[in-house]
Amino acid sequence: MSVDASPAYHLPNNMGRIILLGMEEILGKDGLNAVLHKSGLPRWSGGYPPDDMHLGFSFEDLSRLQVALEDLYGARSGRGLALRSGRAGFKFGLRQFGQQLGLNEVSFRLLPMSEKLPQGAELLAGLFNQFSDERVRVERCETHILWHIERCPVCWGRESQDPLCHLAVGLLQEALYWVSGGKNFIVEETACIARGDPACTIAIDRQPLD
Ligand SMILES: [Zn+2]
Repeated sequence: MSVDASPAYHLPNNMGRIILLGMEEILGKDGLNAVLHKSGLPRWSGGYPPDDMHLGFSFEDLSRLQVALEDLYGARSGRGLALRSGRAGFKFGLRQFGQQLGLNEVSFRLLPMSEKLPQGAELLAGLFNQFSDERVRVERCETHILWHIERCPVCWGRESQDPLCHLAVGLLQEALYWVSGGKNFIVEETACIARGDPACTIAIDRQPLD
């Protein structure tokens, strides 16, 4: 963990809650409890963070959960589980923030797919930028949408040769699946702050696989 004097950054409690609910769906209650204990965060095993917008779920907590997943299940399986947890978490997030995001509004639903994806990404980024300390910038390229996490809670304080933000990749995969009405896209983390890159960049292929 980083020992510099950087301020403590947080996600709102309800986003932390959504992440834990997503992890519970994939790992089961016992599995999640084991991860919480391993990560030194047993305070969340008795009850998840409250359903409010208070900035109470620290970047460090989220990063430690990812480390514990890899420690308990091995790097490869742990990363797969993080990805699936992110996908599951999006569904809980949609229940919580769907209306706020405006993804159900007719004006959004009627957009052509080529516009829907980048606009959906921008709406989602706006949610993080407005309500959490996470910072996301969306860049549109001809073939890809680039989701740049310029301040990232998932790999917070970690160092690695490989990208680590599988939870964020899973969340985006599910968001795209939902926004496109059931299509799958290639979503890949191409840069990671843990690797020394300036941002964690997730590249989304604008062309669906199916
Ligand atoms: Zn990251």
